[in-house]
Amino acid sequence: QAALDHIKSKIREIKDWPKTGVTFRDVCPLFEDPKAFHEAVDFLRDRYSSVQFDIVAGVEARGFVIGSALAYSLGKGFLPLRKEGKLPGPNLSKTYELEYGSSTLEVQNFSSRKGLRVVVVDDLLAKGGTLEAACFLIESCGGTVVEASVLVELSTLGGREVLKGRGWKTFSLLQYD
Ligand code: 5GP
Repeated sequence: QAALDHIKSKIREIKDWPKTGVTFRDVCPLFEDPKAFHEAVDFLRDRYSSVQFDIVAGVEARGFVIGSALAYSLGKGFLPLRKEGKLPGPNLSKTYELEYGSSTLEVQNFSSRKGLRVVVVDDLLAKGGTLEAACFLIESCGGTVVEASVLVELSTLGGREVLKGRGWKTFSLLQYD
């Protein structure tokens, strides 16, 4: 619990950003703090060290930070899910809704990933559109989603239920109302 409290103390709360009425949870200070960063990655490492899976997929950009550290710590590879237009193809794409407008995620699709068991990582779960698109892409290229994993879950926004409705499990290290 002390470690969780320490991690939580490094997440900055910014009221009315990026727009009025939204409280943004900034995880960058957590990444910058060596102790909190280690603690956070170690929690995830301990969770997944006894889970059968093949690779970590991370959502650009903050999901890359936590996802690659997790993959490295468990001796796994890393699969990037990137914003549209960044990856040389062939790619699979999925457009999804955000609070303001829409966005598109892509995964490279040049070889079969049939049967690949994937832990999908991002920094934060809000309404769930981003991780829903991420998990959809993993399944579209033949993989199986073992779990969607985040540092922070904004519990009242219903993202967990959205993912559950699609048959995907969610794990979060920290929760906010
Ligand atoms: P969702 O698609 O679940 O509504 O939103 C989650 C996505 O938006 C994640 O990729 C996350 O990085 C970003 N996001 C939304 N709200 C916040 C926030 O308060 N803090 C951070 N760090 N990211 C957020």
